[in-house]
Amino acid sequence: MKANLVLYVYKCAKCGYNGEMHLPGDGHAGESATCTVCGAVVTLEWDGGVTFQPNRPHFEKRKQPG
Ligand SMILES: [Zn+2]
Repeated sequence: MKANLVLYVYKCAKCGYNGEMHLPGDGHAGESATCTVCGAVVTLEWDGGVTFQPNRPHFEKRKQPG
């Protein structure tokens, strides 16, 4: 079974870059990553709303491309 890639975002405190990263699974929030621009250590935040959550209590209708 293949894990879905989940979108994480980060904001680099050093250069201000808003980056994003795709990782398998939704347990990577709060983990450290490296800014792709300046190489500083950043903290990943779960972007929310991107992963497929069948049990989501407040399901919002949104257009899914494709
Ligand atoms: Zn940076």
